[in-house]
Amino acid sequence: MKISQEKKLINLENKYGAHNYLPLEVVIKKGRGIWVWDINNKKYMDFLAAYSALNQGHCHPRLIRAIIKQAKQLTLTSRAFYNNLLPQLCEQLCKLSGFEKALLMNSGAEAVETAIKAARKWGYLKKGIAQNKAEIIVAKNNFHGRTTTIISCSSDKQYRFGFGPYTKGFKIVNYNDIEVIKKAINKNTAAILLEPIQGEAGVIIPKKNYLKKVKALCEKNNVLLILDEIQSSFGRTGKMFCYEWSNIKPDGLIIGKALSGGMYPISAFLSSKKVMDVFKPGDHGSTYGGNPLACAIALEAIKIIKDEKLVKKANQLGKYALKFLQKIKNPLIYEIRGVGLWLAIELNKPLARHYCEKLMSEGILCKEAHQNIIRLAPPLIIKKKELQLALKKVNKIFMI
Ligand SMILES: *Cc1c(COP(=O)(O)O)cnc(C)c1O
Repeated sequence: MKISQEKKLINLENKYGAHNYLPLEVVIKKGRGIWVWDINNKKYMDFLAAYSALNQGHCHPRLIRAIIKQAKQLTLTSRAFYNNLLPQLCEQLCKLSGFEKALLMNSGAEAVETAIKAARKWGYLKKGIAQNKAEIIVAKNNFHGRTTTIISCSSDKQYRFGFGPYTKGFKIVNYNDIEVIKKAINKNTAAILLEPIQGEAGVIIPKKNYLKKVKALCEKNNVLLILDEIQSSFGRTGKMFCYEWSNIKPDGLIIGKALSGGMYPISAFLSSKKVMDVFKPGDHGSTYGGNPLACAIALEAIKIIKDEKLVKKANQLGKYALKFLQKIKNPLIYEIRGVGLWLAIELNKPLARHYCEKLMSEGILCKEAHQNIIRLAPPLIIKKKELQLALKKVNKIFMI
């Protein structure tokens, strides 16, 4: 029997690659905007957008120009020397967010690690916590990344199993419950680390005043509120940063993913001077962190979000999509929720993968969160017509 080129490539990866993912059986070779093409030239709409790294769409022409131009000029100095773009990106990030300081890293997990280190050191130097006693409160069902320290604060058995011993100093409390945070805070609490909306948990949206109350508790107890907005920022929820919905300002912010519009790994931790100044030369670093290629791309990626008004667009189209989806009637659907272009269809049964495969055969790529939640998060550059087309297909697969 002749096996397809697609199957050959999948087998090749299965043979030589680590099996740490279980991808949908599509082999993509090209992407433009909201569209991707598989190796048979079948066209799909990308409704995952690389977990919100592609808010600006695939291969945005301005990002292609930026990466080529900078690649010809200078790509890496390391932080042993200054480069001409890092200062500009730090300024841009601070002006955009209202924070005073930025520290650039590469992957999201590294920026989370940076935040954890900053919070702990701040706890020792500024709050007076006894050495090695600092605690960070996190939420159940969080997702902050995959390093050994970060999985130590996870409540997910699979993320943790087999990877111990774990890093101490984390307290896990229920999400969206202010009372459990009140109880968990003590004199050793340095920070509370939360996602303003839990992405990997399945777009879990907390009560309206949750973050405001958490912030008030933090202020009362001299605790830092650090938000992981790696997935929720840069317009995804219809605000530049998701926390803006809560009328608060956190003490630290972690960003990544769409910061480069899918063009390059870049992440950052943003904070006040009083927190960031705990880092002294030699305390922390990364060879590629803040490299000029990454900075050139990030500067352009931020400009695209502003110039194309993607924040406003996500807000308007998101409202439209949510209304549309909430009209779908199927007893299998438990709940449909969303903020901006970050939507989830939660099922009563563990059939999310099955429905993602159905959507794939309709030309829409998305990925389940857990076994019962379908997450819809297209690039924010999507046009209303394209969104309507996709929503019709979602409707179709749920027709009985
Ligand atoms: C993706 C993600 C991370 C991890 O980012 P990586 O770049 O994969 O290390 C951390 N936190 C949140 C909320 C994320 O969505």
